[in-house]
Amino acid sequence: IWNFSAGPAALPLPVLERAQRELLDWNSSGASVMEQSHRGKRFIAMTEQIEADLRELMGIPSDYAVLFLQGGATQHFAQIPMNLAGEGESADYIITGHWSEKAASEAAPYVRVNVAATSKADNYLRMPSHDTWHLDPKAAYVHIATNETIHGVEFEDVPRVGDVPLVADMSSNILSWPVDVSRYGLIYAGAQKNIGPSGLVLMIVRRDLLERQARPMAKIFRYAEHAANSSMLNTPNTWGWYLAGLTFQWLKENGGLQAMAERNRLKAALLYTAIDGSGGFYSNPVDPAVRSRMNVPFTLHDSALDSLFLQESEAAGLMALKGHKALGGMRASLYNAVPVEAVQTLVVFMHDFAARHG
Ligand code: PLP
Repeated sequence: IWNFSAGPAALPLPVLERAQRELLDWNSSGASVMEQSHRGKRFIAMTEQIEADLRELMGIPSDYAVLFLQGGATQHFAQIPMNLAGEGESADYIITGHWSEKAASEAAPYVRVNVAATSKADNYLRMPSHDTWHLDPKAAYVHIATNETIHGVEFEDVPRVGDVPLVADMSSNILSWPVDVSRYGLIYAGAQKNIGPSGLVLMIVRRDLLERQARPMAKIFRYAEHAANSSMLNTPNTWGWYLAGLTFQWLKENGGLQAMAERNRLKAALLYTAIDGSGGFYSNPVDPAVRSRMNVPFTLHDSALDSLFLQESEAAGLMALKGHKALGGMRASLYNAVPVEAVQTLVVFMHDFAARHG
């Protein structure tokens, strides 16, 4: 079975197989990793190794903290302004699809949201051109989503935003290619696409931003407290953290982010070429310059064929191709764990389906 789910998504098979092998006896402890105290020596050593692996993979500079949090990316849509913006301050939001729009609306109770640019009038089929970004040099931060999981648009090159800290929701393209972490003030990602199980949130934040005493709030909401307590302010998602660590090891063993970038480009090129070369049977209306490598929405020329396409694709072992309800049609998500062979199989199926129903 090839799994094209947008999230929770496929994990690399070797990660699942290793987790299965270690399920009942982790690290010769005689118990599952889920049954270990997070204060225990073994568990702490594991988290230190995980952080070191991630720092190596992403080239994270030492003036950035790495946090493993909970609540999903959505909770942090609200918690980021709580931490980074003081009373009465504003933040710039670049709206490029469903998720950045949601980030802005969840932030609104905590910060004055300035929509500095939006491609909503273009139905999010392209990026708002950089010369239309109305950035405020006094903003507490600028927020972007580097990849829009539903609309299938992705920043190839994130524009410079000056000295204002850039905050990026990378939930659906983190670890898919190298990024220059030093260009960001804060990077965050729900784990359920390229990292591990849902619920876990990875955050990489420049330490000086943790010093912002934006407003009074309970410790559990304050990132500085999580950093000071090595992400163990309360009981962490130990199972998710462990699986994230296995994924990082898998990435290291498979050539790191440069190798992922090459593989992901190849996978996306295979699928977009098949769509564009189908003589109109399939289509993807996104501006080719900003098409996502991770999430490829496409429609069939006749939506009456949708249910047959889904039925036949599933019978062929191609899972979870149904599009998001906001767009309809299909969506194939091509995260790191999806091998080239899966996309080749999908493309052959699509070609055959079009030949039979065109
Ligand atoms: N941001 C992006 C880009 C997403 O794709 C998603 C969906 O998974 C979210 C945020 C929301 O994440 P969560 O469901 O973990 O809150």
